[in-house]
Amino acid sequence: MELDLIQEMIKQVLDEIKTEGIEVSTNEYEYGVFDSMAEAIDASEKAQRELFECSVQQRDKFVDAIRAEVLKKENLEMISQDAVEETKIGRVEDKIIKNRVAAENTPGTEDLKTRAITGEDGLTIEEYCPFGVIGSITPTTNPTETLINNSISMIAGGNTVVFSPHPRAKKVSIKLIKMMNKALEEAGAPRNLITMVKEPSIENTQIMMNSPKVRLLVATGGPAIVKQVLSAGKKAIGAGAGNPPVVVDETADIEKAAKDIVSGASFDNNVPCIAEKEVFAVDSIVDQLVYHMKKNGAYEITSPEVIDQLDKAVSKENGKPNPALVGKSAKELLAQIGITVGDDIKLIIARTNKNHHLVTEEMLMPILPIVSVSDVDTAIDWAYEAEAGNRHTAIMHSKNVDKLTKMAKKLEATIFVKNAPSYAGIGVGGEGHTTFTIAGPTGEGITSAKSFCRIRRCVMSEALNIR
Ligand code: NAD
Repeated sequence: MELDLIQEMIKQVLDEIKTEGIEVSTNEYEYGVFDSMAEAIDASEKAQRELFECSVQQRDKFVDAIRAEVLKKENLEMISQDAVEETKIGRVEDKIIKNRVAAENTPGTEDLKTRAITGEDGLTIEEYCPFGVIGSITPTTNPTETLINNSISMIAGGNTVVFSPHPRAKKVSIKLIKMMNKALEEAGAPRNLITMVKEPSIENTQIMMNSPKVRLLVATGGPAIVKQVLSAGKKAIGAGAGNPPVVVDETADIEKAAKDIVSGASFDNNVPCIAEKEVFAVDSIVDQLVYHMKKNGAYEITSPEVIDQLDKAVSKENGKPNPALVGKSAKELLAQIGITVGDDIKLIIARTNKNHHLVTEEMLMPILPIVSVSDVDTAIDWAYEAEAGNRHTAIMHSKNVDKLTKMAKKLEATIFVKNAPSYAGIGVGGEGHTTFTIAGPTGEGITSAKSFCRIRRCVMSEALNIR
C-alpha cells in the first residue's frame, strides 16, 4: 500500500515536471523583443494598463529587481564588455562604473512627492502620475547606461517604455532588455514593461514617434534626433549635445585641477556628453597645469602642424567627427598619425587658439585643446562662446567664489561642476542622483522618475482640512 502511494506521488511529480517542461518549450515570449514596432508598442500598451493596477510599493519591487539583476558582477561585466565590443566605443572599466551608478543611483518611486494644499475650502493633492507608453531613443555612446537609467525612472513613474536604440548597439540592447524583463517577471511584474524591436532603424523610430499609443517621446542623442522628437506633435523630452568647457584660474589647486581634468576628459574615452571638451586656463598657471596633466597620463602635441594633422585625421570633410573614431583611445588616435604611445596615455592635449576646430566641435574623443587666456573674466567669456548656447555642462577650477558664481550664472548650464572631474555632476564622486538623460533643451534637467510623469490634481472640497 505504502509503496503504491509513493509510486503514485512520483508519477504525479513527473507529470507536473513534464507539463511545466512542455509549457516552457512552447513559450515564445522573447522578454520584450518583438519582430515589429507595432507589436512592441501594443505589448507595451497592454503592460502599462497592467502596471497601472499595481501599487507604488510593487513598482518599487520591480525597479529593485532591475537593479539587483544589473548589479550582479557577471552581468555588469558582460553588458559593459558587449557594449564596447559592439559599438567599438569607450572603455570597459569605465562602462562598468557608468552601468553601476545607473543601477544604484537612479531614484525610484521616492522621487514622486505628492503636494498637498489645505485651507478652508478643503484638501487638494497634486500627484505625479504615469504618462503611459514612453518611446525612448538612446545613443551609441551610453547604450546600456541609458537603458538601465531610463527603465528605472520610467517604470518607477508607472510607465512602460518602448526603446529605439541606436542600430550600432542593437545586440547589447536586446541582451539587456531581455535580462531586465526576465528579472521583472521573476519579481511578479507584468510582461513587456520594457520593449524594443529586433531591428532598430530610422523607419522603426518614425513608426514609434507617430504612434498615438506612445504618449511621450524622449530622445537622448545629438541635435538631429532632438529636433525630430520636438517636431512630432506630442510631448517630448530632448537630451541633446554639449561641448563642456573648463576654466582654470590662478587661485585653483593646479595639481588637483590637472588630475581631475585628465580623469574627466579621458573617462570612457571622452564620449559622455558631460565630459571636459576644451580648457581655458589663465596664462600665469597654464604651463604648470600642462606639466601636471602630463604627469597624470596626458600626451602633449606641441607642434601646431601635428595637432592639425591629427584633427584632419579624425574629422570628416564637413568637420564632424569621423564616427569610426568616436570613443577610441588616445593610443589608437595617435596611431592614426604614426605616433606610438603606451597604454598609460589616456588623453591627448595640445595648445590651440580659441577658434580652433577642436575647441568649437564636440568630438567625443580623448583630445583636449588648451587655450591660454590673459585673465579669468576673458576665460569665462571664451568658455561661454565655446559652449555655444547648449547650456549643457561646464566645469571650473578656482577658489574664487565670485568668479565661480560669475561663470555658473553666465553659462546657465544644466550641470556646473566646481573643482572636480565632470562626472561628479552625475553622482560619481559628487552628491545627487544619476541620470544619463540630461534634458537641457526641454528643461527637465537631471531627469528622474518625476520627469516622466504627468501632474494631476485631486480635490476634496470643504473637508479633510484638519488644521
Ligand atoms: P546620435 O544623435 O547619432 O544618435 C542618437 C539616437 O538617435 C540613436 O538611437 C540614433 O539611431 C537616433 N537618430 C539619430 N538621428 C535620427 C533620425 N534622423 N531619425 C531617427 N533616429 C535618429 O548620437 P550618438 O552618436 O548615438 O550619441 C552621441 C550624441 O548624443 C552626442 O552629441 C552627445 O552629446 C549626445 N548625448 C546627450 C546626452 C544627454 O543626456 N544630453 C546623453 C548622451 C549623449
